[in-house]
Amino acid sequence: MKVPLLDLTPQNHPLEDEFVAAFREVLHSNRFILGPKVEELEEKLATLCETKHAIGVSSGTDALLLAFMALGLGPGDEVLCPTFTFFATAGCISRTGATPVFVDACPVCFNIDVNDARRKITENTKAIVPVHLFGQAAEMDSIMALAKEHNLHVVEDAAQAIGSKYKGKAVGGFGDFGTYSFFPSKNLGGFGDGGMLVCNDDELYEMAKILRVHGSKPKYEHKYIGANFRLDPLQAAMLLVKLPHYGSYTEGRKQNAALYLEQLLQRDDVVQADPSNCGCSEAAKVPSDGPRLTLPVAYQHNDHIWNQFTMRVHGSGQRDALKAHLQSHDIGCEVYYPISMHQQPCFASLPASACPVAEILSNEVLSLPVFPELTSEQQQFVVDQIQSFLHN
Ligand SMILES: *Cc1c(COP(=O)(O)O)cnc(C)c1O
Repeated sequence: MKVPLLDLTPQNHPLEDEFVAAFREVLHSNRFILGPKVEELEEKLATLCETKHAIGVSSGTDALLLAFMALGLGPGDEVLCPTFTFFATAGCISRTGATPVFVDACPVCFNIDVNDARRKITENTKAIVPVHLFGQAAEMDSIMALAKEHNLHVVEDAAQAIGSKYKGKAVGGFGDFGTYSFFPSKNLGGFGDGGMLVCNDDELYEMAKILRVHGSKPKYEHKYIGANFRLDPLQAAMLLVKLPHYGSYTEGRKQNAALYLEQLLQRDDVVQADPSNCGCSEAAKVPSDGPRLTLPVAYQHNDHIWNQFTMRVHGSGQRDALKAHLQSHDIGCEVYYPISMHQQPCFASLPASACPVAEILSNEVLSLPVFPELTSEQQQFVVDQIQSFLHN
């Protein structure tokens, strides 16, 4: 049986007629840059993300860059960034001329270790960028408290966490800006690149909107240097077809995650990460006679949307062995992320920033198929193959 890591066919093809109708609507509107479709998506996203404003942009990466530009970050500024994240978070900080300062990860939830962030603050620190990794919110109470104490801007990279909640409140609206991505593998996946920037502040909203169109307002007058960060109306029209189904997509992911937990935790050598160890770097080290797998946990105060189901495979070489075993049985799986930001060649000239937990995670993490339309037969097959690996 073939089990891809992600199969978009069962999600997109049933909506084919609606997509074609949406395409026709844009075709006949002759409106191909911004306009009503983009505005409608912006309004609906602001509602979903519980923010006052939303700005449709060209990608999740550009949403980050635009946020940093609107905040005026630049050379000499230091920005705290989790090392265990997708490259865009760090890359966009660098592209403004500011310096990313890499912060270690929590071994339980994989999110930014706020204690390590505190240790790495200097007088040049201007901002912190929590990432709600794999769909689970970072510790926003402590992050906002730290930011307040040191007068830092907060930009939430919520690319993997659209609709995810922290203590009952949607992520993205805690800080100055929140950023989302419609990359096809995200929980609300589009048909190419797209993204959204959200915020509650009227002035920041105006600034970001001006920078989205080359910093021009009125047209052809440039007080600022922006760029082209616009979301296509065609992309917005397609996403508007999928948006009403967002709840069922997330529900499917939650059910799949619950089933992995229920099935795999029946074994003695498989445990679930312990929330009481959140932020405890010591807990990253698992003894050689300890469990072989640690499964992810959704904190009680979080509404985790499971963009990824990422477990830790303990023991030297064991993660790669399990990955090879699954792949040899046609099961898709992936390592998010094999190289943390503090170990990337392009950042080698930055001052060293110790991130020992992230280095352990890079060697141990493995993400399993968890997309909403995964069939129970497919999922059982994944479980069976993990079991057969653990038997040996
Ligand atoms: C996907 C992703 C991005 C970038 O989004 P794109 O739309 O691909 O540019 C940024 N940050 C994180 C954490 C992501 O997962």
